[in-house]
Amino acid sequence: MPLFPRTTSSRSARLDFASAQKQVATFAGSSKVHEAFDWFRSHEREIATFQLEITAVGAAPFGEERRSRFFAEALEVLGYTVERDEVGNVLAFVDAPSSNEPALAISAHLDTVFPSDTKLDVRREHTRLLGPGISDNGAGLAAVWALAAVIKDCGLHMQRPVLLMGNVGEEGDGDLRGMRHLFAQERWRDGISALLVVDGAGIDSIVAEALGSRRFEVTISGPGGHSWSDFGVPNPIVALSRTIANIAELPLPSNPKATINVGTIEGGTSVNTIPETASMRIDVRSSEPAELDRLERDVEECVRSAVMDSQSPRSVHKHLRYDIKVVGNRPAAELRLDAPILHAVRAADSQLGIKSRIHRASTDANIPLSLGVDALAIGAGGSGGGAHTLHEWFEPLGRDIGLKRILLATLVLAGFKETGNNE
Ligand SMILES: [Zn+2]
Repeated sequence: MPLFPRTTSSRSARLDFASAQKQVATFAGSSKVHEAFDWFRSHEREIATFQLEITAVGAAPFGEERRSRFFAEALEVLGYTVERDEVGNVLAFVDAPSSNEPALAISAHLDTVFPSDTKLDVRREHTRLLGPGISDNGAGLAAVWALAAVIKDCGLHMQRPVLLMGNVGEEGDGDLRGMRHLFAQERWRDGISALLVVDGAGIDSIVAEALGSRRFEVTISGPGGHSWSDFGVPNPIVALSRTIANIAELPLPSNPKATINVGTIEGGTSVNTIPETASMRIDVRSSEPAELDRLERDVEECVRSAVMDSQSPRSVHKHLRYDIKVVGNRPAAELRLDAPILHAVRAADSQLGIKSRIHRASTDANIPLSLGVDALAIGAGGSGGGAHTLHEWFEPLGRDIGLKRILLATLVLAGFKETGNNE
């Protein structure tokens, strides 16, 4: 079932795959673009250094301030006029827009999953770059920075506005708040024709299907008491455990796939205390909004029945209560197959010999897609692993192919000015 109507968006210029391919081939043959391609190769050391430096600046969820300033300053050093909005999103136009034409936006998220007290041991070992967040999203930020730098150094100009972005709040509890904030404003909702998200390493995937997710915090509370003298008072940890057992038994469809995860549990005071509260966080995912609704109801029923079963008959007035709070809600949506942004990326892929596949995931693209704005997410080139762990790594070998891909797609979508006032 198409979750997003596959009609032609009025915002994006019309573009079919054949003409995207023709444009990519022409641009790839131009001397300016050759120069840019060479720049990516000859500046790998600088790109990697930038990646190491920005990854070493902590950016915990809701704690991206320092990294946001670092990114803004790095773009200013390159000669950009940079704007930072209320939440810390960094925005810079490639050329001052001369018209009201909506912009192609290219973004990388600034935040990481790592709490602010994480030791960020970021370093180079042989060819590899190591450290928490080095690929996700040090690689994406390095790619946007490299694009910003190559545009200035090689004097590339576009016919339509291009907006470079570092945004906050992609990971976990950030719940896409950077993109949400941006697209909640008329200026950007109407001012962005399409969004190209650069997230993590790699070149073989195109995330054009936005996986929806909902996250809940379930808290069960009771009167609590002494383990001996108040024995019989209902125990929230027991009720929470029953809930988890119920959730683990829920049938889940495999096509389209849906998942439920109990990610964290908390509660209790001491071993000889009947706890007053116990809580957990649950993540539910599906590509189908209706399935998310159904699973939300199922989760609530699991909680309700477990709490019922855990009430103590000996103390009828000492009841357990429960509360379910939505702590995350990412809309499910998918990109229409005739979207210019998809044609442009695929045309770049065929030019560069990249065999890419369409994937489904939850990214910053979820927000624009759910609003009918074309968006997709691709990797920044190179390769990486250990995402969301302290052992994350990035291998820059072949990074330039990923950067060429981003550049070619940008030139097609924003209209490369091959000749004229290129200096
Ligand atoms: Zn990421």
